Amino acid sequence: MAVEETGKLDALRQEIRAFLRKNLPKGWGTPEYVAPERGSKEAHELGKQWQKKLYDAGYTGFGVPKEYGGIERSREEMAVIREELTHTGAPPLAGSLGPSIVLPTLLRYGKEWQKKRFIPKILSGEESWCECFSEPNAGSDLANIQKTGVRDGDEWVVNGQSVWTSGAKFADWGVAPVRTDLKAPRHRNLSYFVFDCKSPGFEVRPLRQMTGDSEFGETFFDNMRIPHENMVGEEGKGWYVAMATLEAERGGGFQFLAPSRRIELTSLGGVDNFVELAKNTKRRGKVVWEDPVFRQRIAQFAIENEAMRYSRERMRVKAQKKQTTGNEQSISSIFSREKNQRQANMVAEIMGANIQFMKGDKRALDDGSWAYTFLRTRGNTIETGTTEINRGIIAERMLGLPKSRA
Ligand SMILES: Cc1cc2nc3c(=O)[nH]c(=O)nc-3n(C[C@H](O)[C@H](O)[C@H](O)COP(=O)(O)OP(=O)(O)OC[C@H]3O[C@@H](n4cnc5c(N)ncnc54)[C@H](O)[C@@H]3O)c2cc1C
Repeated sequence: MAVEETGKLDALRQEIRAFLRKNLPKGWGTPEYVAPERGSKEAHELGKQWQKKLYDAGYTGFGVPKEYGGIERSREEMAVIREELTHTGAPPLAGSLGPSIVLPTLLRYGKEWQKKRFIPKILSGEESWCECFSEPNAGSDLANIQKTGVRDGDEWVVNGQSVWTSGAKFADWGVAPVRTDLKAPRHRNLSYFVFDCKSPGFEVRPLRQMTGDSEFGETFFDNMRIPHENMVGEEGKGWYVAMATLEAERGGGFQFLAPSRRIELTSLGGVDNFVELAKNTKRRGKVVWEDPVFRQRIAQFAIENEAMRYSRERMRVKAQKKQTTGNEQSISSIFSREKNQRQANMVAEIMGANIQFMKGDKRALDDGSWAYTFLRTRGNTIETGTTEINRGIIAERMLGLPKSRA
């Protein structure tokens, strides 16, 4: 790389560090910092404000055409931004569904006005989104969606129910495939809509998870009206639009988001926290870090995290070149979600009975955050489509095996 280029990247690095010093919440990274309650309105608002600051500073919103609010950066600049934000660690962004699944869907199938209206506010974090796909009898079998839409002039009157709708309680907008042709066969009877969550007839009932959070809920559509112009793609072709959403979801929207938490780029391949835990915990009177079996397992996770990092980087580059990455995303998705669970299982072994103490319990280590992680990762192999379904995709589309009859 030319000396001039290196100088520019160094200047960018300094600029980001100054930005972080000025803009991170007061006390961030110190023991005095009190984060808003996870899942609370305050946490959501903090995430929104943080995303807006990042966007205004040009540190997020990459890979999107400028006319829809995208920020142009070279690969090297993006890498510097990612590194700096990841090393510092920053507040989680408010709801990732907008950037990760709605944005790619709109880019591919949205009408021009929809792209111009929605994408800039997704990038800036000003509007949050939810995804009303799964229903009580349509999860893995998404084509079985029962939600109906009947045309009435310039509007569609929608009735039905979704479940597991993440982020619904704070969402401004939602996406939903709806049966608009009651006679057509599966896959040809759906149309895909964006809708305003403030519309009369839309109701959210939060559900309580075993973590204590209510990340998702049931959502009800009771004669809710959606303008016809909100249809994304063509009438009756909503299945293909929904597949674009699911493909993006499996890839985690990696190309548009700035990183928020301290994850993969840390010096030890993202395993520093396990090392710390192992050094500070005793099992049967012996410090865990002195046990070669645990050290070996932690080293293995460091290797796997590096492998994931490079494979995500490869997908990111492919996506920027407009090449499809769906199959690789299925592989990466299975691997990372199962790895999350294996990591949490190892933590449970290190901590022994202490893993049971939740937030607020005086006996809890780290105020129950390990217990929370253990419980939360159980959902990882279900959300964004189960790992069984992803294995089916790999079997059929990559390996050419016969279609499953299940
Ligand atoms: C934390 C979390 C957040 C979520 N957020 C959202 C959201 O925001 N929006 C949304 O729409 N949905 C969301 N979901 C729902 C999720 O997409 C579904 O739970 C998932 O698709 C599985 O559907 P299901 O629960 O109906 O299970 P089912 O489809 O009933 O599956 C039950 C079991 O059967 C297996 N199975 C089913 N069919 C096959 C097959 N053909 N081959 C092999 N095995 C099969 C499944 O793998 C599973 O183990 C979320 C789920 C979780 C856990």
